[in-house]
Amino acid sequence: MTGQCKLCEHEKELRRSHILPEFMYQNLYDASPRRFYTLNVDLDNSDESKRKIEQKGIREYLLCGNCEVQLSKYENYAAETIYAKNLGNKAIIKKANKTPDQQFFSYEYEGFSYPDFKIFLLSILWRVIVSKSFNTPEVDENIVEKIRLAVHKEDPLDFDDFGCLLQIIKYKNGKIAGGFILDPYLTKDERSPILNILIDGFMYSFYLNSKELSLDQKEFFLKKEGTMVIVVSILFTDTGLYERIKAAFDFLK
Ligand SMILES: [Zn+2]
Repeated sequence: MTGQCKLCEHEKELRRSHILPEFMYQNLYDASPRRFYTLNVDLDNSDESKRKIEQKGIREYLLCGNCEVQLSKYENYAAETIYAKNLGNKAIIKKANKTPDQQFFSYEYEGFSYPDFKIFLLSILWRVIVSKSFNTPEVDENIVEKIRLAVHKEDPLDFDDFGCLLQIIKYKNGKIAGGFILDPYLTKDERSPILNILIDGFMYSFYLNSKELSLDQKEFFLKKEGTMVIVVSILFTDTGLYERIKAAFDFLK
């Protein structure tokens, strides 16, 4: 199929691309048949809630061959680092902080390649916004264009441009809240809108206007020297998220 590549904007033969790289939800597949759940919960109007069961992954005619190859470099990097798919992992945990009850609540990483991991994060943000497969809330078109250009030109931007807070979401019993993708939803910090997507237990919260945040709030973002703090959150501490997941599972019953 020919069409306009969403990333380079050239008329080309388009690939039926994965919207999210497969390694991000490999654990989500049932052994047999291979499928996973995406859940969309609109809390304002729960009749609109939808459950989709997908066979093999979400694909769309989105990218040309060149752009797909370009993005795959960054996907491979992320697969090896946070998803630890191979032994090429260069990012290591420098410090793990514990609460008094001996639950870990944050991991301080070092050794990330800033451009490689940041461009990966930007590419996820961009794909989630431009994809038609998710019910992503509308994002200002100037913002979308800025992200597209950064990904296309392989420019990681400043650490506080579209900063991402990455959290591992656990249930109270310590199990990761995985097995599904929760459709993207917007929340609002007093200084910035935040686009959140929960993918198999990993919550990516992208601050769309993160330059405006205080230094404290920027502490968790990936830094140019390759450090990043990944937070472990217990589901019940985020009531908005808890309500969304609960509503989704009630709907499944
Ligand atoms: Zn292209």
